Amino acid sequence: MSITENVQQILKELAEGNCFHEPVTLVAATKTRTPEEINEAIRAGITDIGENRVQEFRDKYDAVQGANRHFIGHLQLNKIKYLIGKTWLYQSCDRMELAEALAKRSQRANLVSDVLIEVNIGCEESKSGFDYDTAFAAYETIRGMQGLRVRGFMAMLPLAGEREYLLSLVRKMRTLYEKAKENDENIAFLSMGMSGDYRLCLEGGSNMVRLGTSLFGARNYNI
Ligand SMILES: *Cc1c(COP(=O)(O)O)cnc(C)c1O
Repeated sequence: MSITENVQQILKELAEGNCFHEPVTLVAATKTRTPEEINEAIRAGITDIGENRVQEFRDKYDAVQGANRHFIGHLQLNKIKYLIGKTWLYQSCDRMELAEALAKRSQRANLVSDVLIEVNIGCEESKSGFDYDTAFAAYETIRGMQGLRVRGFMAMLPLAGEREYLLSLVRKMRTLYEKAKENDENIAFLSMGMSGDYRLCLEGGSNMVRLGTSLFGARNYNI
């Protein structure tokens, strides 16, 4: 199937909403994809795209047209300057040091940057993010930083695991999201779900999914 057909089919599926019948935002994860492929996806209805490497974000920035830009990867402090003012949502605020640096840079540029707090929900060594147990306190601290506006939480599920276990992790994230949302009208996004697990994430209450493979096909890192 073509990119256009994939996008249309997934958008149709997502139009049903998550388990709470809330609207779901589709973010196309565009690593390794060319501007031509990304622009085809945008013409087919994609409104939001996410890169996880700064170099790719920069290389494609001008050639891609008409979508909200998300940053979804691990961000080094010395690269923040390339993203500032160009990023609609920083999804991967995974450590306090990064929040502080993003806040400082945003203030200096006279703007407010929207961020999601990344949580290492599976307690995996290979992944970054706040521990679940400290995530709410981290949220409260970051919420108080001038230059930042916290919009919600992001997490990645472990690649393997029993369905019930993975679903319980999504529900834990949903609990955290709701606790923050109770007293904070800026909280709007729980970003969980990739091509392999997005249906399960919607069943657990995610309202933002980041899909690469199901929109563009398998990735080739060798090109
Ligand atoms: C690549 C990527 C995705 C999408 O992965 P697929 O399995 O291709 O859908 C989602 N989130 C992040 C952070 C990614 O880097």
